[in-house]
Amino acid sequence: MKRVFCAALLGAVTFIPAASAQRDLSQVEIRTEHAGGQVYALFGAGGNIGVLKTDDGVILIDDQFAPLSDKIKAAVKAISDKPIRFLLNTHWHGDHTGGNENFGGMGVVIVAHDNVYRRLSTPQTFANADRNTKARPKAALPVITYNDELSFHVGETTHVVHVPHAHTDGDSVVFFTESNVVHMGDLLFVDRYPFIDLDSGGNLNGVIAGVKATLEITGPDTVFIGGHGPLAHRDRVEAYLRVLETARDRVQALIDAGKSKEEVIAARPMAEYDETWGSGFIKPDAFLAAVYQSLTSGAE
Ligand SMILES: [Zn+2]
Repeated sequence: MKRVFCAALLGAVTFIPAASAQRDLSQVEIRTEHAGGQVYALFGAGGNIGVLKTDDGVILIDDQFAPLSDKIKAAVKAISDKPIRFLLNTHWHGDHTGGNENFGGMGVVIVAHDNVYRRLSTPQTFANADRNTKARPKAALPVITYNDELSFHVGETTHVVHVPHAHTDGDSVVFFTESNVVHMGDLLFVDRYPFIDLDSGGNLNGVIAGVKATLEITGPDTVFIGGHGPLAHRDRVEAYLRVLETARDRVQALIDAGKSKEEVIAARPMAEYDETWGSGFIKPDAFLAAVYQSLTSGAE
């Protein structure tokens, strides 16, 4: 019984890559929305894309899946006739880096955190073999990597900050300083429980720290692009942070009372949030499992 339960959980947690790989992308349309200033968001399948339009060229944040690259290029062209100069990967997951080979192959300079390079350039193996990945071809790899923070001075200053051990161990949060837009990658799932990839070095505490720090240095009019979900203003990001902190506190109380992971999940400590927040990729059981593992792994 227990084994079946755990297998079901694993299936839920790894839903994103498996489903994406099998999904027919030929019908996907790329929708463009103006986020603020010189920044646009592209919505298609996979992680949301950010586009900074400047007289000196375009900076792209993430690139969804390889079969969508031509549609993404067309959507960028409709925003700006300048070339795409840089592509920043917010983290290594395939729904954010799937187009890397196509963009790298046309001369776009790919930039990411050091750990994104490490995970894309070597085979990755997971407890659930469905998640295993091969090393990506050279054209798909970042050619510039950074450790703590990085700035682009193309048009306006784009400031990139690494958040340690959050969604993964290679997350970037991107601040378009003049446009007053932030791309948070998968640190932010708008109105939904997030996927926290503990197998890639992620941890709930890092997600909370990253969201908090981002809110602290942004203002009332900042527009937030999450890895998944619609554009958001501050109130929605604050609501998301409250849900994460509530989950942390309630699960910690159950852990302190000696409950196992299965008992924590069965107790439904987030019941009043589950219907809405658990209606995305990540169902309540998978979220609680990630919270429990985050709080018992000994990582910060
Ligand atoms: Zn991700």
